[in-house]
Amino acid sequence: MKTRIAACSCGQLKVRTRGEPVRVSVCHCLACQRRTGSAFGVQARFGRDAVEIGGESREYVRIGDEGNRVVHHFCPACGATVYYAVAGYDEGRIAVPVGAFADPAFPAPSISVYEVRKHSWVGLPAELEHQD
Ligand SMILES: [Zn+2]
Ligand SMILES: [Zn+2]
Repeated sequence: MKTRIAACSCGQLKVRTRGEPVRVSVCHCLACQRRTGSAFGVQARFGRDAVEIGGESREYVRIGDEGNRVVHHFCPACGATVYYAVAGYDEGRIAVPVGAFADPAFPAPSISVYEVRKHSWVGLPAELEHQD
């Protein structure tokens, strides 16, 4: 089974994933823009049992639009978020920012969400599912 490793900028915090992601998505929401420091976020979800976490992390909890607690786990040394989970929804899954894998061959996203917040210059393939 395919194993991949996601890591923070300094390499202290790591997530090892087994198998293919359950879902890979692009999100243009303002919270993802702030979290990533980029124009949009790309994240892969894995079942909790397919993920092994190593290293020290701190938590940042953001309350989502629907009142969900989004718990971000970031490296205390370099600040990069390496995984997050949404409490009370999607409980069995861990989301990993795709950039943390630093792998240009990582599977492409199948869906693009929050396009109402999309920067006007961003173009994504038409075969993706698109949601406002
Ligand atoms: Zn780090
Ligand atoms: Zn988002």
